Amino acid sequence: MMKKLLPTSTAGSLPKPSWLAEPEKLWSPWKLEGEDLVSGKQDALRVTLQEQENAGIDIVSDGEQTRQHFVTTFIESLSGVDFDKRKTVRIRNRYDASVPTVVGPVSRQKAVFVEDAKFLRKQTKQPIKWALPGPMTMVDTLYDEHYKSREKLAWEFAIALNKEAKELEAAGVDIIQFDEPAFNVFIDEVNEWGIKCLERAIEGLKCETAVHICYGYGIQANTDWKKTLGSEWRQYEETFPSIRESNIDIVSLECHNGRVPVEVLELIRGKKVMVGAIDVANETIETPEEVAETLRGALKYVDADKLYPCTNCGMAPLSRKIARGKLEALRAGADIVRRELAA
Ligand SMILES: [Zn+2]
Repeated sequence: MMKKLLPTSTAGSLPKPSWLAEPEKLWSPWKLEGEDLVSGKQDALRVTLQEQENAGIDIVSDGEQTRQHFVTTFIESLSGVDFDKRKTVRIRNRYDASVPTVVGPVSRQKAVFVEDAKFLRKQTKQPIKWALPGPMTMVDTLYDEHYKSREKLAWEFAIALNKEAKELEAAGVDIIQFDEPAFNVFIDEVNEWGIKCLERAIEGLKCETAVHICYGYGIQANTDWKKTLGSEWRQYEETFPSIRESNIDIVSLECHNGRVPVEVLELIRGKKVMVGAIDVANETIETPEEVAETLRGALKYVDADKLYPCTNCGMAPLSRKIARGKLEALRAGADIVRRELAA
């Protein structure tokens, strides 16, 4: 798909304008409603697209301007989930949250992001990427009193996601990405059924597919969790052998400033890799040289034509100014390494 070497993109969300939702806050509620909210989301999408294009980002996205939460917005379109019946559960073994309950069979009742994707497609000629939650991460965001099996529930979510993904593909999306932060937590389940469910979600797709596996936003619960992970983060090492065998085309990873030993990338050699070269848990804007250094490290394990410079995760909680600076640093760092590869 990409002829340009080292095409840049972002892993997920970007900051929302202050007139749409309270800035520098995760899962911030909307400030508009009704028709104003519909047109406000479209305007925000135009703004975030322009910021990506001005920064020279190659593969652009909606920056998740149309969703409040990366999982819940999708679940709201499913039958079988009672949003009024709430339970407190521990999300990814990290923090407690009040979540909806699965009370019956889950199935997709309507398209969720398809109109938004068509709108984005009309605004740009650049390749576009769309993010959906992954089946395992969705399971971890609900209380289930119907299936009483994480695997069975994930499988049903995968079927619903597959329907949405096929319509996104038809709308002109070039890369569909599934966000699976849960893959860094429930390692045994990833290998037992997580990847199988992911493959069900991408069944029959002709566009490219990606899985994004990260250590999360820079929120306190994640920062505290990371402190428990030791001096080297080796979670990827446990799941990469199965991911390498899977049909997923691209793996999106956190590679900058964390404690992930870069040599784990060897375990997915042959896959395309979105290499996180921008820290989203830190307000300091990387220098282009810092970005380049991370990309050079990854190039030892990822062939140049398969390396996609990216951010570690989403940037929604950052200020728009810092996010713009980080996008520009990403592009400038990729430029440095592109020149080196051409020389
Ligand atoms: Zn992430």
